[in-house]
Amino acid sequence: MAQLYFRYGAMNSGKSIEILKVAHNYEEQEKSVLIFTPAVDDRDESGYISSRIGLRRKAISIHEDTDLFEIVQHHEGPISCVLIDEVQFLDHAQIMQLTRIVDELDIPVMGFGLKNDFRNELFEGSRYMLLYADKIEEMKTICWFCERKATMNLRVDANNRPLYTGEQIVIGGNDTYYPVCRKCHKNPPLQS
Ligand SMILES: [Zn+2]
Repeated sequence: MAQLYFRYGAMNSGKSIEILKVAHNYEEQEKSVLIFTPAVDDRDESGYISSRIGLRRKAISIHEDTDLFEIVQHHEGPISCVLIDEVQFLDHAQIMQLTRIVDELDIPVMGFGLKNDFRNELFEGSRYMLLYADKIEEMKTICWFCERKATMNLRVDANNRPLYTGEQIVIGGNDTYYPVCRKCHKNPPLQS
């Protein structure tokens, strides 16, 4: 029985490298995977999974009107696993498409992403992954400022000031995001 997996973590918790590793492990056994990434993520050119340690590979871009179930269903040849980068950017309907890939096509789906945004609210995709996933796993990393576990994402503007309001998804801005613990999210030790 295939399952839907949600692996979440703060910024820099190694989500992209984990996707590349999982894909590599399947392919080493001559099994095929499909890798998707939302087009909203423009850290790099769209359509690539890039990790901070320099590895990268092509992925299928997800747009607002992309039906992931249709793509997987009509793909030629057997698929052993579907991997989703930045799953927090998917909408409710697209998360339901992931459940159909698992339930109707019996293909495991692993979604990787952030749980909460810089305001500490759930992303839409993460909310529905939390509600629908069979297995939920936290990927851990350390707070940027102290030794606690990072559970939140701090947004800092170009003048080194923390931001707690604004649009959830900011494309092409100059702001920086840090993985932080709750205490440092409330009172980040920033020098301005
Ligand atoms: Zn901290």
